Amino acid sequence: MTTPNHLAGGLVFTGICASLWNVNVFQAPAYLVITAVASLLPDIDHTRSIIGKLCYPIARMIAKKYSHRTITHSLLFLLASTLAFHLANRYFIHLPSATLIFFFSVLSHFILDMVTIQGIPFFYPFIKNPCVIPAKPEYRFKATDIKAEGIAFFVFTLMLFTFQDLFANGFWMQLNNAFSDLKHVAAEFRNNQNFIQLEYDYSHFQERNQGTAIVVTASDKNAVLYQDGTFISLATDVDGITIHDFKVSKTQIPKETQIVNFENIKIDSLNSILNGHFITNAVIFASENATAIIDGKPSANTYFSFQNQYGIIFQETDKQATRPNQLEILRLQREIEIEENQIQQENKKYENMKTELQNLQQNLKNAKNPYQEDHLRNQIINLAKQLDSYRPKSNTQLLKQKEKLAQLSKPTVPNPTHYTGQITFLIIQ
Ligand SMILES: [Zn+2]
Repeated sequence: MTTPNHLAGGLVFTGICASLWNVNVFQAPAYLVITAVASLLPDIDHTRSIIGKLCYPIARMIAKKYSHRTITHSLLFLLASTLAFHLANRYFIHLPSATLIFFFSVLSHFILDMVTIQGIPFFYPFIKNPCVIPAKPEYRFKATDIKAEGIAFFVFTLMLFTFQDLFANGFWMQLNNAFSDLKHVAAEFRNNQNFIQLEYDYSHFQERNQGTAIVVTASDKNAVLYQDGTFISLATDVDGITIHDFKVSKTQIPKETQIVNFENIKIDSLNSILNGHFITNAVIFASENATAIIDGKPSANTYFSFQNQYGIIFQETDKQATRPNQLEILRLQREIEIEENQIQQENKKYENMKTELQNLQQNLKNAKNPYQEDHLRNQIINLAKQLDSYRPKSNTQLLKQKEKLAQLSKPTVPNPTHYTGQITFLIIQ
């Protein structure tokens, strides 16, 4: 195989193999560099190869000691070089999956050399016979066949373009995509640390729905998607749903959550936490019976617990100020009125008695005979006694009742409901 075919074929082979481990060889330029170098590395035993020219002293040494297509084209070299690279990566390079890419890149070189006439002694130095695929020499590449090399290069290049989805999404996601159903979307949702994106195309009776959205949650029959700032519910087990295509792909958005703890907050603050978020978990206590709209249905309680919900909103319970008890007020007013009347009457009686006493005293002065004088004096003494013993009715009771009336007439303003709890929601950026 020529150098361009080792590079192009190496990239195709490594890309496909790495996709089985969900590694994208195109993800980082460093991976491409490793693939390029490693897929040419076994030809370090040849001073005229590119890698041999770059590392001429080593190439000359290997070429002298062994010969072309011997030790560096063996399983031993594959394992030894991979181990060496692994150690180098671990201590110096620090690239996850780089060893995997290195391994398949070197292996790609062997496979591409196996399809040539000469083959490679894969089990060198133990078995020196060449390993070849396929067995019949006429199906293998001849070193001088430029046309065949050209066709191979064209095929490899074509594969690189057509397999881009496979490289980007990994083999298993691509396989799941082949099913185009929610069950396989759910599997991908569970398997990925980052959010996945869904390109959906389905019909609900006559209505066709197409778009691209972030998968917020997914199970075998239900999913919630996030598209343009809104959440969309998707259920596939309802009547009239026909899926035309479900295609998932990876995103760089990590599945992160935020936890908010709150204590004695008012309804507006609570709703602002809930608003526009996908709630993965929530536990909320209300200071008194409260109403929440969950799944479009109102639910009244003092304790709320829900998972994987969106669009939750708490509603203010219609709390009017408790109206004064009109009957009790009327009764009290009547009692006070009677009481006041009584006090007034008694005071009047007292005043009358005082006036009468004054009159009697006046009459005494103008008395015409001793008999009349005596009579008046007796009357005065009796009246004075009566006045003396008179106790005006106490009005402390009345004051108490008046106070009570004032209290009753005031409307009582209720305390607003307070909420305490914890809400966990997804951060989708
Ligand atoms: Zn080679």
